[in-house]
Amino acid sequence: MFKPFILVVEDDAPVRNLISTTLKTHEYKYIAAPTGEQAILQASTHQPDIVLLDLGLPDMDGVEVIRRIRSWSNMPIIVISARSEDSDKIEALDNGADDYLTKPFSVEELLARLRVTTRRLVMMQTEKGASVFVNGKLRIDYAAGCAYYGENELHLTPIEYKLMCLMAKNVGKVLTHTYITQNVWGSSWENDVASLRVFMAALRKKIEAEPGAPQYIQTHIGVGYRMMKVE
Ligand code: CA
Repeated sequence: MFKPFILVVEDDAPVRNLISTTLKTHEYKYIAAPTGEQAILQASTHQPDIVLLDLGLPDMDGVEVIRRIRSWSNMPIIVISARSEDSDKIEALDNGADDYLTKPFSVEELLARLRVTTRRLVMMQTEKGASVFVNGKLRIDYAAGCAYYGENELHLTPIEYKLMCLMAKNVGKVLTHTYITQNVWGSSWENDVASLRVFMAALRKKIEAEPGAPQYIQTHIGVGYRMMKVE
């Protein structure tokens, strides 16, 4: 299995050591940076596959690090933050982060996020420019504008189809409510979370075997949604 090369950005030495030890134990290659400036420099010189980024850094806000990296790279960024407020996660996600972990987190949680992001990376590389998207029983034929669940064609409304394509193109990445509404409806629908919830429920009824225990689309309460890669 592909093992990504990881850049750990964390100013707090005990946390940095915990992450480094976990990565070493699980045979990930990694480098570490204690400041935002060093993080940006290491990201450009070493081209890591995934960045684990603490938001509270001594020299700059982690969101600024995301903006700078996003100006030249799509490398997945998992934000690690002590701040539990949704607004910080949302700001980081809206600036291009892929996922988030809230401190304190367990080693198992960290490893699980890395696996999700690794699957996302593999999918980004293999499906670059592909005209058909396949995830578990779901299949989207972008050229024909059709979607299938197993052998059956899904009868989706135009909005449901757009919503599913957006989630599919960002598989493995947490998308915020604002990002989804802006990309599906345009900015006039910005922050209409209640309407989004209704459309998401309708879509789930069509693609989830058990809409109460969704397999394909995860809810991130107060934040947004993510399509998971299903084996
Ligand atoms: Ca910190």
